[in-house]
Amino acid sequence: MTPPTPPFSDEHEDLRQSIRGFIERELAPHAQRWEDERWFPDEVFGKLAAQGLLGLKYPVEYGGQGGDHLHEAVLCEELARVGSGGTAAGIGAHVNIATPPIWRFGSEEHKRRYLAPAIRGELIGALAITEPGAGSDVAALSTRAERVDGGFLVNGEKTYITNGVRAHFIVTAVKTKNTTPPARHHDISFLIVERGEGVSSSKLEKLGWHASDTATIAFEDVFVPQENVLGELHEGFKLIMANFQWERLAMALGAVGAMSLAWERTAQFARERHASGRPLSGHQAIRHQLADLATSVYTCRCVTYDALRRFVAGEEPLKEVTMAKLLTQRACFELMDACLQIHGGAGYMREYFIERAARDARLGPIGGGSDEIMREILGRALAL
Ligand SMILES: Cc1cc2nc3c(=O)[nH]c(=O)nc-3n(C[C@H](O)[C@H](O)[C@H](O)COP(=O)(O)OP(=O)(O)OC[C@H]3O[C@@H](n4cnc5c(N)ncnc54)[C@H](O)[C@@H]3O)c2cc1C
Repeated sequence: MTPPTPPFSDEHEDLRQSIRGFIERELAPHAQRWEDERWFPDEVFGKLAAQGLLGLKYPVEYGGQGGDHLHEAVLCEELARVGSGGTAAGIGAHVNIATPPIWRFGSEEHKRRYLAPAIRGELIGALAITEPGAGSDVAALSTRAERVDGGFLVNGEKTYITNGVRAHFIVTAVKTKNTTPPARHHDISFLIVERGEGVSSSKLEKLGWHASDTATIAFEDVFVPQENVLGELHEGFKLIMANFQWERLAMALGAVGAMSLAWERTAQFARERHASGRPLSGHQAIRHQLADLATSVYTCRCVTYDALRRFVAGEEPLKEVTMAKLLTQRACFELMDACLQIHGGAGYMREYFIERAARDARLGPIGGGSDEIMREILGRALAL
C-alpha cells in the first residue's frame, strides 16, 4: 500500500478504506435508482449515523466521534464514490454546511436539541442563505424577521436550498434590522427554523444532482422563538463567512475524489475499448490526454491538501482555500468532459457513469461561491 499523503496519516487511510467499503456496499449499488427517482431515502442518514459518519469531527458528548476536520475530509473525498452527486450533496449539506454553525455558534441547548439528533441521523438539516434576489451578493437578502412577543415572525423566500424538502431544521439567514442607509453586514441574523406551520417547500428540476432535493422554501408568518437565534443578533454575516471556508474546502475535496474516480474508470475503459486495431490507450492522442488528466488530478490534490493542511493547523488560509475551490471545480468539470469524450458515444449514454458525472460536475463552478466571486476574493487578497 502506498504511504498516505500528508496531511493524512495511516489512521486516516484506515478510515478511508472503511468508508470506501461502506459506500461501495451500501450506497453505490442504489445510486442509479435514486437518480431515476429524483430522491434518495432519508434512511441513508440513519445508515451513515450507525457508522459514525455524521459526526466525525464533533465531540463525543454530542454523539460525535471526537475526530477533527481531517477525518471529515476523508469522508468528503470518498463521497464521490457513491456515484450520485445528488446523494453526496444531500449528505454534504447536512454535514458540511447545516450542522457546523450550530456546533460553532450554538448554545448548549441548540447542540442538545439539533446537533445531537443530527449526528444520530434523526434530524436532517439545511442551510438557507440564497434567495431569488440574493445569491452571490448575500448581503442583499430580504427575508425578514420582525420582532414579536417571545421571538420573531419570519416572511420571505429562499431558493436553491439543498435538502430543502426533507430538512427538519433550516439554519436560515434573515434580515433583523431595517436602517436607512442599510447596515450591510450588520443587519443579518441566523435563526434555526423548524419545519412546521408557515414553512412550505417546492422541489426544483435541474441539470444534475438529480437525487438531491434542491428546493425553494417559502416562509409565511413563521414564528421562531427568541432562543432559536444562532450566534449574535445582527452579526450573522460573520457566521456566513466562517462557514464558507470549510464549505469550499469540502467542495474541493469532493472534486478531487470525483476526478480520481473518473480518471481510473476512463483509463480502464481506454485499455479495454479497441479502435483501429488497438486499445484506445494505444493511440498517442488518447494516451497523452490521459497523462494530462492525471496531471490535473495530481495538481488539484496538491493544492487542496495544502489548503487543508493550513486550515487544520489553525491558519486562516483564505487565499489558499479560495484558490483550491476555484482551481478544482473548473478542472473537475473539464476533466469530466474530456473523460466523456474518450468514451465516445458510450459517454453520452445513461448506462455509463460518466454521463451523470459530467452533468453533476457543472455545479462546482457555481455553488458555494462562483468562479467569478472566487476571483473577486483573490483580487482583494492579492491587494489588486
Ligand atoms: C444545485 C444547487 C444547490 C445549492 N444549494 C444551496 C444551499 O444549500 N444553500 C444556499 O443557501 N444556497 C445554495 N445554492 C445557491 C448557490 O450558492 C448560488 O446559486 C450561488 O452562490 C450563485 O448565486 P446566484 O445563483 O444567485 O447567481 P448570481 O449571484 O445571480 O450570479 C449570476 C452570475 O453573475 C456572476 N456574478 C455575480 N456577482 C458578480 C460580481 N460581483 N462580479 C462578477 N461576476 C459576478 C456569477 O458568478 C454568476 O456567473 C445552491 C445552488 C445550486 C444550483
